[in-house]
Amino acid sequence: MTSLDELPIRDDLRGLEPYGAPHLHLPVELNVNENTHPIPEDVARDIIESIARELITVNRYPDREFTALRESLAGYLEGTEPGSGITREHIWAANGSNEILQQILMAFGGPGRSVLGFPPTYSMHSIIAKGTGTEWIAGERDPGFLISPSTAVEWIQKTTPDVVFFCAPNNPTGTALGLDTIRAAYDAFDGIVVVDEAYAEFAPAGEPTALSLLEGRPRLIVSRTMSKAFAFAGARLGYLAADPAVTDALRLVRLPYHLSALTQAAAVAALAHAPEMLAMVDDIKAQRDRMVEELTALGYSPWPTAANFVLFGGVDEPEALWQQLLDRGIIIRNLSIPGHLRVSAGTAAETTAFLDAMRELTPPRP
Ligand SMILES: *Cc1c(COP(=O)(O)O)cnc(C)c1O
Repeated sequence: MTSLDELPIRDDLRGLEPYGAPHLHLPVELNVNENTHPIPEDVARDIIESIARELITVNRYPDREFTALRESLAGYLEGTEPGSGITREHIWAANGSNEILQQILMAFGGPGRSVLGFPPTYSMHSIIAKGTGTEWIAGERDPGFLISPSTAVEWIQKTTPDVVFFCAPNNPTGTALGLDTIRAAYDAFDGIVVVDEAYAEFAPAGEPTALSLLEGRPRLIVSRTMSKAFAFAGARLGYLAADPAVTDALRLVRLPYHLSALTQAAAVAALAHAPEMLAMVDDIKAQRDRMVEELTALGYSPWPTAANFVLFGGVDEPEALWQQLLDRGIIIRNLSIPGHLRVSAGTAAETTAFLDAMRELTPPRP
C-alpha cells in the first residue's frame, strides 16, 4: 500500500491532520454538539412527501439557484430578527456551513491571502483555510475567551488579513461576542468579516445577532446552519446572509448544481415547520443550564455559555475522565485544552446519565 507521503500531494498539505472528532456510536453521544432530539414525526412525514415529489424529476438537474429554499431561509431569518430586511437576494446556501465557509475562502482567500481567527475556536476554520491555500493567522483572545473591540482591531492592524473569522457564540468555549467587536473589526480594514453563528438560536432570546449589522456593511457575512438548532446535521444544509454582491462572488466558485434537489426539498419542508423544529431549543438550553449548575456544584469550572454545550475546567486528567465516561457509554469531547472537557447538552435523560456518571467519577474535594 502507498502511504500519503509518497503521493505528489500539494506541499502545503503535507503533514496536516484531517478533521478528527471520534465517530463512535454509544448510548449517550454528547461530543459534536448535535441536536440530540429527533425530528418530530409529522415534520418527518412532510419532509418525506416533499422529497418523494422531487424524486420523480430527479433525472433533471436541480434548481441551480435554489430559489424556493432561499425564499424560505430569508423568511425564517426575517422572522427570528424582524426588521433585518433580509430577502432571498441576501441568502446563499450549501451542503453545511462548512461548505459555505470553504466557498467564502475560495472567493475571498486563497494562495497569497490570509484569514485571521481567534483560537480556541472551531477547528474547521483553520482546516478550511489550509485546504483552500489561505494562510491561517491565529490571533489571541482576552482573558475569559473574550474578544474586545480593541483586541480585534489590534490583531487586524498587526496582521493585515484579507478575511477575519469570528465564531459567535464561540465553539468550543460557548463565549458570546459583542456586536461592538464586529463593528470595530469591520471598520478596521477593507476585508471580509465572517461571523459563524452556527449556535445563534441557543443564545439568550431577543438579543440582536450579527444579522442586525448587515445593512450598510457589504463586506460582512453571517454564516448559519440547520445542523444544530434545526436538528438537521445529517441533511447537510448551511447558509449565509450577506449583501447580494457576496452571493455573486460565491457563484464564481461554487460547483454548478451543488445543492441536490432532495436536499433543497427536505430543507424547504423543514423550514415550513420552523416553530416545531425549534421547540426543542428551550429544552436544550434548560439542560445546558442544568449542566452548568451541577458541574459547578461538583467543583468544576464551567465557562459562561450561549450555545448548546458547556466547556468546563477543573479536570485533573481530561483524557482519563473522557475514557471513564466512554467506558460508561457516554462520549463527550476532549479538545486538548489543558484541564478542560466539552459536553453537548442532551435530552433530559442523557443529561442525567452524564451528570450521574460525573458524580460517580468525581473524587470528593478536600
Ligand atoms: C457545528 C458547527 C458548524 C456546522 O457545520 P455544518 O457544516 O453546517 O454542519 C459550523 N460552525 C461551527 C462553529 C460549528 O460548531
